Amino acid sequence: MQPREYDNELTYLTHQQSDDVEGFHQAYEEAVESVEASLGESHPLRIDGEAVETGDSFTVTDPGDQTVEIGEFAAGGEQEVEAAVSAAKAASPDWEALDVESRVEIFQDAADIMRDRKYELAAALSLENGKNRTEAMADVDEAIDFLDFYSSEFERSNGYEFDTGEPTPGQHTTNLLRPYGVFAVISPFNFPMALFVGMSAGAMVTGNTVVAKPASTTPLVAQKYASILEEAGLPDGVLNVVMGGGSDVGQPLVEHEDVSGVAFTGSREVGLHIQETFMELGKRGPVIAELGGKNPVIVSDTADIDEAVEGVKNGAFSFSGQKCSATSRVYVYEDVIDEFTDKLVAETEELTAGPATDRDTFISPLINDSALEHYQEITEQARADGSVLTGGEVITEGDLADGRFVEPTVVTDIPHEHDLAREEHFLPFVTIHPVSDLEEGIEKSNDSEYGLCAGLFSTDEDEIDQWFDEVESGMCYVNRNQSATTGALVQAQPFGGWKFSGTTGKFAGGYWYLQQFMREQSRTRVE
Ligand code: NAP
Ligand code: MG
Repeated sequence: MQPREYDNELTYLTHQQSDDVEGFHQAYEEAVESVEASLGESHPLRIDGEAVETGDSFTVTDPGDQTVEIGEFAAGGEQEVEAAVSAAKAASPDWEALDVESRVEIFQDAADIMRDRKYELAAALSLENGKNRTEAMADVDEAIDFLDFYSSEFERSNGYEFDTGEPTPGQHTTNLLRPYGVFAVISPFNFPMALFVGMSAGAMVTGNTVVAKPASTTPLVAQKYASILEEAGLPDGVLNVVMGGGSDVGQPLVEHEDVSGVAFTGSREVGLHIQETFMELGKRGPVIAELGGKNPVIVSDTADIDEAVEGVKNGAFSFSGQKCSATSRVYVYEDVIDEFTDKLVAETEELTAGPATDRDTFISPLINDSALEHYQEITEQARADGSVLTGGEVITEGDLADGRFVEPTVVTDIPHEHDLAREEHFLPFVTIHPVSDLEEGIEKSNDSEYGLCAGLFSTDEDEIDQWFDEVESGMCYVNRNQSATTGALVQAQPFGGWKFSGTTGKFAGGYWYLQQFMREQSRTRVE
């Protein structure tokens, strides 16, 4: 079957192609000014279409300058989870009964509103989680893509309902997928718009109602999305947003008896804990979890080394490595490893750290203090057990001292089995390892509990074919200088993980994603 054509929202690229890069920068900078003027406001929970205050709140600050307050956010607890789930449950029958076209139209309208407000959303995202301007816009673009793609896929599939005919005389049969009821949606900080929107839209387009909890560090863009959906005409109670901590809100939400399914993106530890909670409580619904990665790249001696250096640099250090898809271990053929490593170190030293909103910023701040502490621990360990060729230090001087900025770090002389090369760090930290040939590169790439993204740089067609067939990874990229492992597009490059990188084997932004939010029913009527 031919998949249909689909156009991604590619804001920056479109400006480049129409020779209007300045227009992009100007619009973004104007948006930053207006978003900055509204920082520091208070934000309530949203339950059943109402703003809900709680007795508790938390403050979010800009990770690039912690003296800047992003906002004050109401913190929920068990009581608010109870109210939100009960609102979602009450809204469920009418929402399921709504015809496909009317339901789909709400998300298409929301996509249009997001398109109109994309610079404001990207600016808010930069200030809240430290993503530089082009990457913040890519996050917003991806959210728009999810809304467009999921709503039009649902419509194209006629809401997954079709007539199966009259198998024997008089039996009229229909086959359909139906929503489960109430879904919990729990999202991480690193793609605060795309993932919050994508997971919740997946659940809602298919007729479920949702209680969503954004990461505690990134509630602002989630608030903005909720207000966009309200403007698009989403009925009360279909999306309820409860902010607050993982154990205060996330855990009781997952445990709630009226929550039938969970869509989660985040760490392996939390994701598997949610899955175990579901099993222990005897819950039957799906836990659609996208988890971590430890993404390997192989550089063959037939590779264009400059392209490989570019791809690894972008894959490992964009958004300071805080991506599940970040390049984290590189296996280089022995005869080109010195050239590759020298060039990577030189290029890494050229990268500019700075506030997310500065035009030339490449290196972003780290999201929180525990990330900063973890960086200090692993760089110390790397110095003790291997060689730190560049980086390894926290930036404590000058303009960046009020943010959590660290140097991008390249490490060698660490065995492939070392924890530094096995565990996900979620930091700008990459290890380089020699291999003698493709077999060894693939064996080491696959010797991991994760299987999210992988890259290869090679000009040998046989190597490329063999690697595609043998590498254990959800997303596989060959010769991609844009980034060796990061930067997937909705529809063309569906995103998900094998092994401990995901729980379902079906990918976000792909043709088999939405069905996970539904269960099948066959209907027979004898006439
Ligand atoms: P995280 O610490 O696992 O948090 C994810 C979400 O879970 C947050 O909203 C968090 O709330 C919540 N949470 C924490 N404990 C919980 C509990 N006991 N029950 C229910 N919810 C709980 O992940 P993160 O640090 O935000 O993001 C980084 C991780 O996400 C990395 O491992 C990365 O690989 C993964 N990730 C995967 C993908 C993918 O598509 N495979 C994409 C992006 C990120 P708080 O914020 O309040 O702690
Ligand atoms: Mg965390």
